Amino acid sequence: MKKEELINIAENSLLSITTRPDVVMERGEGMYLWDTDGKKYLDFIGGWAVCSLGHTPKVVSDVLIEQSQKLINSSPSFYNKPMLEFTKLLIDNSAFDRVWFGNSGAEVNEAAVKLARKYGALKKDGAYEILTTKNSFHGRTLAMMSATGKDHWKELFNPKPSGFTHIPFNDLEAVKKAINKNTAAIMIEPIQGEGGVNPGTQEYIKGLRDICNEHGILLIFDEVQTGFGRTGEMFSYEKYGIEPDIMTLAKGIGSGFPLSALMVKEQYNIFEPGEQGGTYGGQQLAMVVGSAVTKEVLKKEFLENVDSMGKYIKDRLKNISEELGLSEIRGMGLLIGFNLDETIGSEVVNRCMENGLIINSPRPNMLRLMPPLIVNKDEVDEMMKILLRSIKEVKKA
Ligand SMILES: *Cc1c(COP(=O)(O)O)cnc(C)c1O
Repeated sequence: MKKEELINIAENSLLSITTRPDVVMERGEGMYLWDTDGKKYLDFIGGWAVCSLGHTPKVVSDVLIEQSQKLINSSPSFYNKPMLEFTKLLIDNSAFDRVWFGNSGAEVNEAAVKLARKYGALKKDGAYEILTTKNSFHGRTLAMMSATGKDHWKELFNPKPSGFTHIPFNDLEAVKKAINKNTAAIMIEPIQGEGGVNPGTQEYIKGLRDICNEHGILLIFDEVQTGFGRTGEMFSYEKYGIEPDIMTLAKGIGSGFPLSALMVKEQYNIFEPGEQGGTYGGQQLAMVVGSAVTKEVLKKEFLENVDSMGKYIKDRLKNISEELGLSEIRGMGLLIGFNLDETIGSEVVNRCMENGLIINSPRPNMLRLMPPLIVNKDEVDEMMKILLRSIKEVKKA
């Protein structure tokens, strides 16, 4: 099919949910994507902070081919070997004791909220309320739209599930004030991703742990974006030196394959049979991919690369910050954001795209980089060159 035909199908037959450029992606390898015209793009969003090992990594395609010829889905009624092997890997390499597998970030966040409510019902006299933060993002199911701290979602799709209170991020006093007898848990992203790359301070995260201990409420980390090596540690809670009670993972855990996990401490193994589940959770293809990705990310050189490339990008951005009016260069590892001195985020994104670079603007006055974690120095240099040129072109226009 010709590109015009494909775009026609998109415009006339896909449910309209977002605006996309007239580009159809066809092939990917490492840090690069190619569209149907053969145009090459350097990819600094990596499938939306998803393709941790880059595009079409051999370790992933190999296990997919092998497993797809053996068994694809033995049903949720049975254990399967890839599921149990992946479970052991996750437990051996995290602070948690129990795992439940899902397919998306929103799904495991829902599971975390259900677990917190179950805990409230069993141990806290029916407490059900979850504190979440303003500018947070937890997904697009109805309950996760309630949990998410976006003002313009408040009035959408009502009635949505209630029981979520939004408090300012990085504000311990606000947490103390908001806690009451109905509070069951606090759910945060250690670094707010969609909200604009806002890292929780050390004091805040430690403080949350203390407050949760004091009140017997659960600390839930949504590490859908920050987990699996993104920050330079396997999980970002390690950066803060504390452990949450519950953690959710998605995005990078499957390096592009739909896969998510809810991880909990032993004492929160409290679901009764039938209260939680899903048809595809623990399905063989996802499980072999999860193990393959985990083994790569756990390699010392892999996480060191995330750390050193993150620092290198920040240094390079600092060097051009005065010239281009960039400020507040922030983030951890390879989750990096910075402000622009004008609201030209989407213009810069479009210009970069024309110039062969994919980046993201989560807010009109800022840009975000979340490249595959395998990015190297040459690719960073290439990104910087295109970014510099693109911002200059937009400012001149
Ligand atoms: C992307 C994201 C989600 C939602 O994940 P889906 O797989 O799109 O459902 C939830 N929380 C955070 C922090 C995210 O970045």
